[in-house]
Amino acid sequence: MKQTLKRLTAALLAVVLLAGCGAGASSAAPTPAPTAEPEPTPSPTPYVDVTGLPPLDSVEELADLLPADFGVLEEEYPTEYSTYKILEGDEWENTVHVLKGAEEGPALYIVGGVHGDELAGWYAGTLLKKMTIRAGTVYIVAPANLYGAENNKRRTKEDRDLNRNFPGDPEGWDAERIGNAIYTDILDKEPAFVLDLHEGVYHDNDGHDNLGNSIICGDIAAIGDLVFHLIGLSQDGSLTTQPLDIYSAPPKGSLNQALTDNTDIPVITVETFRAEPLAARVRGQLRLAEQVLLWYDIR
Ligand SMILES: [Zn+2]
Repeated sequence: MKQTLKRLTAALLAVVLLAGCGAGASSAAPTPAPTAEPEPTPSPTPYVDVTGLPPLDSVEELADLLPADFGVLEEEYPTEYSTYKILEGDEWENTVHVLKGAEEGPALYIVGGVHGDELAGWYAGTLLKKMTIRAGTVYIVAPANLYGAENNKRRTKEDRDLNRNFPGDPEGWDAERIGNAIYTDILDKEPAFVLDLHEGVYHDNDGHDNLGNSIICGDIAAIGDLVFHLIGLSQDGSLTTQPLDIYSAPPKGSLNQALTDNTDIPVITVETFRAEPLAARVRGQLRLAEQVLLWYDIR
């Protein structure tokens, strides 16, 4: 972690220094001749060129796509696929997809679409069900909030925020039952890491998060190396379209907070930024997941 921090500090310093160099060079350059053409105003264009990405306006378009269509997870490995049910018999029974690599390795648990209207989170989770892995096991629940995903809503049918209802209650309202089913399944599988895929929006006037491209990590001591690795990679737009911010306090009742406070299972919440094109956000989620899989030697 110390080394990673050092590297990150060095990288940030280099950026600052480079910026300084650029400013010095331009002040020393000869004054350009006046021109009638105004300088174009720089637009807040994402770092990453998204023009080559597949179109993605609806869940139907996911059916024929693979993570490789987004330029990630291209190498293929022999992989066993299976499924099982959680919350069986309940109105919100859901399916967990299991991917098993040929080699021994750790287990990872991926949750997407706890908030149904955060499309890139559960679109990416859905695409990840079709990836291949070299080693270990990956469990995927996406979308976790089926009603929200079907109706493009953040909350559950009973108008609850699923990510404020962990660890939940098997006898409670819908969000408590769903939350409890996911939470207890994660405890049962004892994964080495949990990845929770979300999205942020511009405004905070609707109970939504205003997080942009970011990672939420409640226990930086546990997985600081990985978090700083991801943040370092994101500086040039290699992951999400913009560099990732980091937040340290998951909200009460979130899956992140419940796992951080009650277990030793490390977890990060990923937020892409809903102001950006959907396909770019999905690619950001997939690229970040790919780096996590590489980190744990699963790919
Ligand atoms: Zn969310």
